[in-house]
Amino acid sequence: MEKQHYSIAIDGPGGAGKSTIARRAAAELGFVYVDTGAIYRAVACAALSRGIDPSDEAAVSALLPSLQLELRWTEDGVQHVWLNGADISAQLRTPEVSTAASRVSALPVVRQFLLEQQRVVARTHDVIMDGRDIGTVVLPDADVKIFLSASPEVRARRRWLELQEKGTPDTFEGESVLADLIARDERDSNRAIAPLRPADDAVLLDTSGMTLQESIDAILKLIRKKVTV
Ligand code: C5P
Repeated sequence: MEKQHYSIAIDGPGGAGKSTIARRAAAELGFVYVDTGAIYRAVACAALSRGIDPSDEAAVSALLPSLQLELRWTEDGVQHVWLNGADISAQLRTPEVSTAASRVSALPVVRQFLLEQQRVVARTHDVIMDGRDIGTVVLPDADVKIFLSASPEVRARRRWLELQEKGTPDTFEGESVLADLIARDERDSNRAIAPLRPADDAVLLDTSGMTLQESIDAILKLIRKKVTV
């Protein structure tokens, strides 16, 4: 019989700290960390590089069959996204790609295209998968579901610090990070398909007043209540 794998779903809005927390918790447990936002970003990047409007369903749909997406992980658990044989991870974190990702992700054809790819990874590995609809749509039977949030100001500040660390041009003002984040939350929460929302059986965790280590510890505690590794 095929071995059953554990799956942990972590959803929440941008900048809630999902990726860092999920990656560190996965390393601790020996699980694979899957950042699903990166694959929406990869589709967005492909659209932008071909001059396609990320909201144009017909044009994006025509693009999908030519996209060969692959996830790979380095020794220390960092996920890289390969598109048609090239590692495009370094191009995925710009504000332009963030906005375009949130637009392509509202297209049903894109969500359908990426759904099975995400499920295959979870069937074949113990995973902590983060995104917006992991607990509600991608892995409705996940062993543990966590919805991570933090106030918009705290999230914008974290995102801004992250961008600064990565050397994003300093013209990128703190205020526009907050405005972009709020606009993206609204789009992600109000779209017709797979909107951002906690699954009924998700545990809600607000990390506004927590340090990174406290958030990781809280998540590990929730996971270890259900999962023995
Ligand atoms: O998590 P990240 O900010 O990288 O995600 C980029 C965008 O991809 C989100 O704003 C959202 O629109 C979309 N996304 C999604 N479903 C997921 C993960 C990301 O719609 N599971």
